[in-house]
Amino acid sequence: MERFSNSRRRFLEGACAGVAAGFAGCASKEPVLANPKVVVVGGGYGGATAAKYLRLIDPTIEVTLVEPNEAFVSCPLSNLVLGGFMTMANITTPYTGLASHGVRLVRDTATAIDVEKKQVRLAKGDILAFDRVILSPGIDFMWEALPAMRSAGAQDAVLHAWKAGPQTAALRQQLEAMRDGGVFVISIPEAPFRCPPGPYERACQVAAYFKARKPRSKILLLDANPDVTSKGPLFKKAWSDLYRDLIEYRPNSKATDVDVRGNTVKLEFGDVKGDVLNVLPPMKAGAIAAPFITTNARWCDIDWLTYESKAMKGVHVLGDSLLPGPAMPKSATMANGHGKACAAAVVALLNDQPPNNSPTLVNTCYSMVSEKLAIHVASVHKYDTKDGQMKAVPGSGGVSSAMNEAEGVYTMNWARNIWADTLG
Ligand SMILES: Cc1cc2nc3c(=O)[nH]c(=O)nc-3n(C[C@H](O)[C@H](O)[C@H](O)COP(=O)(O)OP(=O)(O)OC[C@H]3O[C@@H](n4cnc5c(N)ncnc54)[C@H](O)[C@@H]3O)c2cc1C
Repeated sequence: MERFSNSRRRFLEGACAGVAAGFAGCASKEPVLANPKVVVVGGGYGGATAAKYLRLIDPTIEVTLVEPNEAFVSCPLSNLVLGGFMTMANITTPYTGLASHGVRLVRDTATAIDVEKKQVRLAKGDILAFDRVILSPGIDFMWEALPAMRSAGAQDAVLHAWKAGPQTAALRQQLEAMRDGGVFVISIPEAPFRCPPGPYERACQVAAYFKARKPRSKILLLDANPDVTSKGPLFKKAWSDLYRDLIEYRPNSKATDVDVRGNTVKLEFGDVKGDVLNVLPPMKAGAIAAPFITTNARWCDIDWLTYESKAMKGVHVLGDSLLPGPAMPKSATMANGHGKACAAAVVALLNDQPPNNSPTLVNTCYSMVSEKLAIHVASVHKYDTKDGQMKAVPGSGGVSSAMNEAEGVYTMNWARNIWADTLG
């Protein structure tokens, strides 16, 4: 094997002195590869963060980020576009900041990971060689749970808007076109799903719009779960204080299919007709991570010290595709934390060093319950050596005491900070 260049070694010595907080055991062994190649698949919260931090920790690593979208569109705050309080431009950030860190951007879709040959194949035909590959493709939908949604045109008519982008703008248009007095139906799948508070925040945002512009309209929240899955008492208080008679919440209401032409969600018990349907199908790891799914045919389990797949060495997975630790949400804050921890671990592994053996992750999820008022939930997760698991630290975190405007300001600051940290 080639040995490490002096400049790279010198840089890493500097990194060990301060830059790479999560990069343990810097002192002893010789690094093994000159200019190793890391390919990151998916330029969302997890992948973009990992790509940037790989270069920050060790600029001798050649980092290629594969992402089909021209720009980053944030799911967090996308519900405010539905409420009419933000535009698509407000939640869109270009990828140019990553290029300034030396991340090579490839605008394409990865179609296969050849672990034996250490190659990523792309839809346009190119092949990218890697020493290590990091997958952060987010979620895909289990359409098989809603059979009629696989028929032609169904997915263009009944939207999820659970990947921010064209569907967010299209759902806003459907809401604008809906008559006053119409019914907007949101169907929520059984947990776990991306962003546990997201559907309830969406109900608040659309209710704020209806209250101002279509006050005879109604929102029906059909939840497959027995209760609101995150910040329940806070959301229920917002619904009764701000949107009385606008939002009706129905727990234990699992969708089994959709009558697309009849604008009807089919439930285990009875059907519900609406004017605009917003159906969130059950979710699983993004398709490119499918060979590395380990659990319930849905999620990818990993070694939490390295983010290496339990199904395949050399392949790292992070973000919403993961089998989460106990009480760990599928959130942007989490994916951003995974990205940094994974980048530090990959740098360590490429240098034949041990990764940090005591990682900690923090999470904060804000939800805007009106144009200005917000609530939050926070948690801290620490590696448990005995079980090899990230566990919620007892007594850490918690929820807001009440919705208020200060939290609304924190929400906007959180968004600006995480966009700068992930992409700037
Ligand atoms: C409405 C809504 C509101 C939310 N609000 C919040 C919030 O307030 N706070 C919070 O912390 N979280 C929030 N979330 C959750 C957050 O958006 C996700 O947890 C986060 O985006 C997960 O990051 P990720 O990197 O796993 O996936 P993503 O950010 O979705 O990134 C995945 C990327 O991979 C790309 N990709 C997929 N497959 C391939 C492939 N084969 N080749 C190349 N690229 C590929 C996609 O194009 C995408 O850019 C919200 C989510 C929703 C839907």
